[in-house]
Amino acid sequence: MSEPAENVGEPKLSKKELNKLKRKQDKEQKKMANEGARQADGAADVEETDVSEGKYGDFLLEKARIQAGASAVFTDVAELNEALDGQEVLVRGRVHKSRSKGKACFVVLRDAMATVQVMLCVGEAISKQMLKFVSKISAESVVDIRGVVSRVEGGVAGCTQKDVELKPVEVYVVSMAEPRLPLQIEDASRPQSADDERATVNLDTRLDNRVLDLRTATNHAIFSIQDAICDLFTGSLKKRGFRQIHTPKMISAASEGGANVFAVTYFNRSAYLAQSPQLYKQMAIAAGFKKVYTVGSVFRAEDSNTHRHMTEFVGLDLEMEFKLDYHEVLVTIGNLMIDIFKGLKADFASEIETVGQQYPAEPFEFVEPALVLRFPEAVAMLRAVGAEMGDEDDLTTANEKLLGRLVKEKYHTDFFILDKFPLAVRPFYTMPDPEDPRYSNSYDMFMRGEEILSGAQRIHDATLLLERAKLHQIDIEKIQAYVDAFKYGCPPHAGGGIGLERVTMLFLGIHNIRLASLFPRDPKRLTP
Ligand code: ATP
Repeated sequence: MSEPAENVGEPKLSKKELNKLKRKQDKEQKKMANEGARQADGAADVEETDVSEGKYGDFLLEKARIQAGASAVFTDVAELNEALDGQEVLVRGRVHKSRSKGKACFVVLRDAMATVQVMLCVGEAISKQMLKFVSKISAESVVDIRGVVSRVEGGVAGCTQKDVELKPVEVYVVSMAEPRLPLQIEDASRPQSADDERATVNLDTRLDNRVLDLRTATNHAIFSIQDAICDLFTGSLKKRGFRQIHTPKMISAASEGGANVFAVTYFNRSAYLAQSPQLYKQMAIAAGFKKVYTVGSVFRAEDSNTHRHMTEFVGLDLEMEFKLDYHEVLVTIGNLMIDIFKGLKADFASEIETVGQQYPAEPFEFVEPALVLRFPEAVAMLRAVGAEMGDEDDLTTANEKLLGRLVKEKYHTDFFILDKFPLAVRPFYTMPDPEDPRYSNSYDMFMRGEEILSGAQRIHDATLLLERAKLHQIDIEKIQAYVDAFKYGCPPHAGGGIGLERVTMLFLGIHNIRLASLFPRDPKRLTP
């Protein structure tokens, strides 16, 4: 057997001798570390023996592995409760905050959305030195604590684990945070309120320091809900026989032949980032896939600096073949949205409540089946309260909001579908209404008065598609591949695209789409 690399050229040692040497080296290391700590902490503690020696310090992965052996079972902070009273547990978390008072030190340990109080008191097991070491661990540092769960009469205020606290036996710093933080997690967690003068964190500071900002319980809740929206979208469509597809994000020509695309260098030519997976969803339908959906990034080179636009967002897109009427698809999408709302309400009540504590909002209301209004009905409702608009005008943002309020008052729902948009305001590939040429077989869906989905029956006939494209003065060469997809027979179909971040924002009633995007991209922000 070959020698270990470090022993080359040294006398060969037996296993026993190696172990002895290692123990000696460990002892020396510990001695040096203690010496360093003593020097740093001043002379006061030097004389006293440290009853906690070896039970705190910086974490050395190798050492921890040796100490823990196979028995290192970590318990989540969220799982600490009365049932574990008296038991020793090992937990990992961050120092949320700490405060020393005489011979005691109170640390709030945070792990995702859960917090627990850790209480150290100088005594038989905890030395003054250990207390000092723990009290100096900076906020946000990651620590491992082995400690005894202890029931607390009357509960611990300000922690999620109210019935218990942890009395540590060992404390190790796994990763020390720099002492100066660009934002305080407590400030970033605070609701903005006119009556509260305590600090809050503005949006730019949050987004500039997103890694820290995302640590708040509110953000954990927002992104758990976003995860659930994706799961519910996928689950509900799978249940209805849809198949997931993945579409290219780099394309050779702009998706709708239009502007607002990002150009990228593609070897010795240009390519574009896809504005929508629509063409590919439709090609899948032309290929006989019947019902498809896809979840993926969508890029828009629009200089829209609003609370609801980003330059990159996640599209939840679906496309479906129908037999007789595009309302088969409209109803499917309506039911899909209801499945999402119901799933969130049923399983994410505590996350919704957490978000609501920082961003108060009326609970999201919906009716089942989803309310469907026709465009002319909406125009009539708006005109009845004095809004001015022509029969075939598109809805302005202000009218969308107003309509949302009117619908909520009359039908008690924050979600509705608006069917039969004027043909003139929809893209060239939208199927005209065969009964009234002023309108189209297209629809939008709204949450709290803002658009979350745009959809339509698409023209599946290449000749009609060309005719409509010419009417829209679209350069045919640029959309030839799209037109060609319908030359070899394609069933009638309809679909739509939903913005994941918009659904997240509007379901929760938070005021800016950037809060519902992990690392938002907008015309002014490309980092972090
Ligand atoms: P809007 O009128 O709000 O700008 P749009 O009509 O351009 O939206 P579509 O192209 O139909 O939107 O996209 C479908 C869905 O994708 C929208 O209903 C919305 O949920 C989402 N979406 C569109 N543009 C953006 C964007 N810039 N940022 C975030 N989400 C978007």
